[in-house]
Amino acid sequence: MLSKPSTVYRPPSTVLHDCPIFIGPLADSFSQWLDSQNYSQVFIIADTHTQALCLPVFLEKTGLNPPPIVVVIEPGETQKNLATCETIWQAMLAAKLDRNALVINLGGGVIGDMGGFCAATWKRGVDFVHIPTTLLAMTDAAIGGKLGVDFQGLKNIIGVFRQPKAVFVDPDFLDTLPERELRSGFAEVIKHALIGDPALWMQLSDHYSAKAVLEASIGVKVRIVLEDPHEKGLRMLLNFGHTIGHAIESYFLETDNPLTHGEAIAIGMICELDASERRDTVAAFINNIFPQRQIPESAFTAIWHLMQQDKKNASGKVRMALPDVLPYSMKVLEPTQEVVVASLRRYNGFE
Ligand code: NAD
Repeated sequence: MLSKPSTVYRPPSTVLHDCPIFIGPLADSFSQWLDSQNYSQVFIIADTHTQALCLPVFLEKTGLNPPPIVVVIEPGETQKNLATCETIWQAMLAAKLDRNALVINLGGGVIGDMGGFCAATWKRGVDFVHIPTTLLAMTDAAIGGKLGVDFQGLKNIIGVFRQPKAVFVDPDFLDTLPERELRSGFAEVIKHALIGDPALWMQLSDHYSAKAVLEASIGVKVRIVLEDPHEKGLRMLLNFGHTIGHAIESYFLETDNPLTHGEAIAIGMICELDASERRDTVAAFINNIFPQRQIPESAFTAIWHLMQQDKKNASGKVRMALPDVLPYSMKVLEPTQEVVVASLRRYNGFE
């Protein structure tokens, strides 16, 4: 028996294919869920921040007994690579992790994407759950089964699709999240509002409460993934802001002053709206929330080259997916280098 049962059982808030998503206190869901399974071992992947700030909360709320094996890695996007996967796989080897083990990814999107990838490939796949601890991971990265790591400076270029066994979203973890990371997650909330939920969009303001928007934001992601699990069509819409944003993120990752994922996506959304000739209040709203970051003219060509590696591209053409007029409707643009460079230049001049 690996867990201490709790007294209250909270049913999942929503179910994505076979994956229940629980929103609410961990104590009401995780222990009960674990008791209904039959895992041989529990193996937690955390980074040094979530080890210090979230692991004690997790252990206290769940009373997991015996204590799980924990592997801890350095935090941040620069760690999201195959070298860190090797560290994780080595820890799995040392723990003699068998096929009936459960892997818990306790952290933000970096831990979720990479820990999930390590679990999905360990002995051809062991079960894993996500316990997201950032706003970005709660509303986006933990939902939908995309896993992977960066490679040769390219974002998420190696990876697999595999659904977690469950996702446990406990808003209490947001209490220790630094303001910059909270804002970063807000970029994906804005994206979800723009692509699918006009009511959520109306609710957003720069004095938002992250906890109040969790459920609606997750709802948009779930609806799109349900419709298109393997990104053959509509799921591309979740990439709004990411074609230019990922390239900007990759570019700044190599500098002394990297952007967070959400900061890069915010700039990406502004530039993609601009490239589609939508220079309206939406872009101004986003620009108001996120700090302006000048993109050096000397970076424009590198950013264009990075965009050419985007996974959505087809027949050698760069493709961007943007929200169309109706919720859950999409238009796909194939911008030229000139259009992208002009949008980056206008972003730099944005007041
Ligand atoms: P992250 O995982 O690097 O977390 C940001 C920082 O917050 C880290 O320093 C982390 O240690 C710290 N942290 C995490 N939880 C904390 C807490 N509760 N209190 C204090 N500090 C905490 O980054 P992120 O923004 O969560 O995720 C970004 C990643 O997610 C990117 O790699 C991106 O590609 C990926 N992503 C994946 C998907 C997907 O569908 N799989 C979707 C969107 C983004």
